[in-house]
Amino acid sequence: MSALRATVLTLILLSLGASPACSQDSFTEQRAALIEEIDRVVRQTESDTGKTALAEAVMAAMAKVPRHEFVPATVREFAYLNRPLPIGEGQTISQPYIVALMTDLANVGPESVVLEIGTGSGYQAAVLAEIVDRVYTVEIVEPLGLRAARTLDRLGYDNVTVRVGDGYQGWPEFAPFDAILVTAAPERIPQPLIDQLAVGGKLVVPIGEQNRSQSLQVLDKAPDGATRVTDILPVLFVPFTRSEN
Ligand code: SAH
Repeated sequence: MSALRATVLTLILLSLGASPACSQDSFTEQRAALIEEIDRVVRQTESDTGKTALAEAVMAAMAKVPRHEFVPATVREFAYLNRPLPIGEGQTISQPYIVALMTDLANVGPESVVLEIGTGSGYQAAVLAEIVDRVYTVEIVEPLGLRAARTLDRLGYDNVTVRVGDGYQGWPEFAPFDAILVTAAPERIPQPLIDQLAVGGKLVVPIGEQNRSQSLQVLDKAPDGATRVTDILPVLFVPFTRSEN
């Protein structure tokens, strides 16, 4: 390579490295803009959800968690768009609005213990971890579970425990859970998850067939154990898969 071309290349690389689009400051700004966008979408979907705003604690968590740390470098520049993004292994990190809505619907607080099925990147677990006491999360695809555990550890989320396995059976050792979030779509709500939900708790789950319209549902458990399911809005999630054994 000629000296001139080498210099030009170096200059290009230097300018990329210093590009404002990828600096921490710019991520902070982009995150603030995303919060406004989520607020807008919440108002637009009021007729479905009945909500004009999400809980303050939820929006504060969304404003704090660095989503760019949870996505592959190849899509990092898109981390603060209100879009799902690929995270490898054919899976996706959910749209930020949906993460915020599901967290709001879970109706959790500082004392809550929460189970998530479908760790994926670990982002939803981190948002929950900002609000609740403990998060248990299960991921069926091993490389994703291991990577999410490393990311959460690196960012200091020491109240999240990740397990690799089929989340269909929940996590009986730590039940009952004040809320359960499922971030992949089964065709029916797995009975073990209903059993592991605390009285007064909420199970938030997208229900439906792959590539067909799915519905985000909330199951409530009354003190007498009776359950009631409410449909919130149409969604599109990756399928809930089962391990062979
Ligand atoms: N909550 C994730 C989004 C995950 S996408 C995030 O914030 O990034 C859904 C995830 O559910 C995928 O990673 C998929 O592998 C996982 N999944 C699907 N079926 C599962 C099952 N039976 N048990 C556990 N995880 C499952």
